[in-house]
Amino acid sequence: MVNQDPTNPSHSLFDQFVQTQTCKEVQRTFSELCHHLELDPRDYQSFYTKLKERLNYWKAKALWIKLDKRAQHQDYQQGKVCAKTKCLVLGAGPCGLRTAIELALLGAQVVVLEKRDSFSRNNVLHLWPYTICDLRGLAAKKFYGKFCTGALDHISIRQLQLILLKVSLLLGVEVNTGVEFKGWMAKLFPDDHPAGKFQFDVFISAGGGRFVPDGFRWKELRGKLAIGITCNFINHHSAAEAQVAEISGVARIYNQKFFQDLLTEEGIDLENIVYYKDATHYFVMTAKKKSLLKMGVIKQDFSDANQLLGQANVDQDALLRYAHSAAHFSTGHRLPNMQFALNHAGQPDVAMFDFTCMHRAENASLVRERKGKKLLIGLVGDCLVEPFWPLGTGIARGFLAAFDTAWMVRSWGKGKPHLEVVAERESIYQLLSQTTPENISKNYSAFSIDPATRYQHVNLNSIKANQVRNTQILSITL
Ligand code: FAD
Repeated sequence: MVNQDPTNPSHSLFDQFVQTQTCKEVQRTFSELCHHLELDPRDYQSFYTKLKERLNYWKAKALWIKLDKRAQHQDYQQGKVCAKTKCLVLGAGPCGLRTAIELALLGAQVVVLEKRDSFSRNNVLHLWPYTICDLRGLAAKKFYGKFCTGALDHISIRQLQLILLKVSLLLGVEVNTGVEFKGWMAKLFPDDHPAGKFQFDVFISAGGGRFVPDGFRWKELRGKLAIGITCNFINHHSAAEAQVAEISGVARIYNQKFFQDLLTEEGIDLENIVYYKDATHYFVMTAKKKSLLKMGVIKQDFSDANQLLGQANVDQDALLRYAHSAAHFSTGHRLPNMQFALNHAGQPDVAMFDFTCMHRAENASLVRERKGKKLLIGLVGDCLVEPFWPLGTGIARGFLAAFDTAWMVRSWGKGKPHLEVVAERESIYQLLSQTTPENISKNYSAFSIDPATRYQHVNLNSIKANQVRNTQILSITL
């Protein structure tokens, strides 16, 4: 290629950054790249522009073309609209990082805190068509060549985090891993971490299931007992494995014979099962309690789900056998050499979760006032609405909420009165749980943080400022 110099260390550092496959390595190669190019990543307002100027060879340019296309969208007003806004994002899961990217594009200073220091979740997320389009627009394929090739519509959680982490860093987001947010007034662990000094006027909680800051109220959606099992097997990428068809979701009501045969032959009774071939062979299924008891997976029956699925009441070896048999049967015994992949703790990656009681925040935003200063708080991802994994709604609704939240911060940055900002956010939030791949707008390439581009019928004023005044504007006297 014309202007690629294989001996140029910044080119090879950039290549490493793009290709690297662990959170730590991404951070290390990024920091070396910045050092080598004499760039200060904290210079968030001009970091991306300077990076582009200094890395001007074909591979980098191909990436800039993609990111520029997004950044030039009118919603961001060339990164000026939130130039004075400072945002703290809690959680570097997919939704926290996706939000951070949008906030950076709006021109805000964005600091992310993540308590873990590695990305280790093998589990695979289903992607609605719009999320595939969205991630392609963020150059996902440049970071992960296999991204949604052919008919694939899924990605492992860790791979998605890696892509979004790389994009975040390139856009000037500060991502601190191994730092736990412990509460207001910048309480962090470690408590002397420099991020503790960051003064922010927007706080976004993307801390995952049930991590919700004070002031928010929950709704508990209690359904009938639903026990989910996830498991991952090593993908050896052999020809035989390639032949085995994925199961994008088979539910009992649509294929009674399959489930009856599974029960007769293996003693396993399921409501549904999904199988995705990704970096691992990933299965998620909903199992009936009676068969788990019968197969010795659950030792004793309890009406309380926590007690029922508590560690002491689960026979781990029996769970492995159960998951293995279900996976083996449902793929027609055609997956050869099925060995469990390992989780972050070095154990077979099999887990059982309770989906009986799902949480949903009653509101998506609030404002705290203290000594005349206002702090805007928003929730995104699983801590806003807990997803039912076998339906794979986590990322689809999570990203919609990330865009809606960015839209809210945009209004905040533009100086819209805070009651109106919150009322508008809540008006949009009312639509989230009803979204399906069918009822959102179909012009995916036109999707932006503007809700009107994504929801077919959105009324930004369905909730009025006076309806949020008492519940979502909190004065604190600390
Ligand atoms: P998460 O991905 O959970 O990210 C939240 C982040 O916040 C985490 O990285 C966490 O470490 C960090 N965090 C939490 N508290 C703090 C704190 N105090 N300070 C700093 N950082 C903090 N969905 C599926 O569809 N299928 C699956 O099989 C599946 N498996 C899952 C397995 C696990 C163990 C978990 C936790 C979730 C799983 N999910 C699954 C849900 C899916 O991962 C989420 O829907 C998706 O990742 C989007 O979530 P999120 O970004 O809102 O939260």
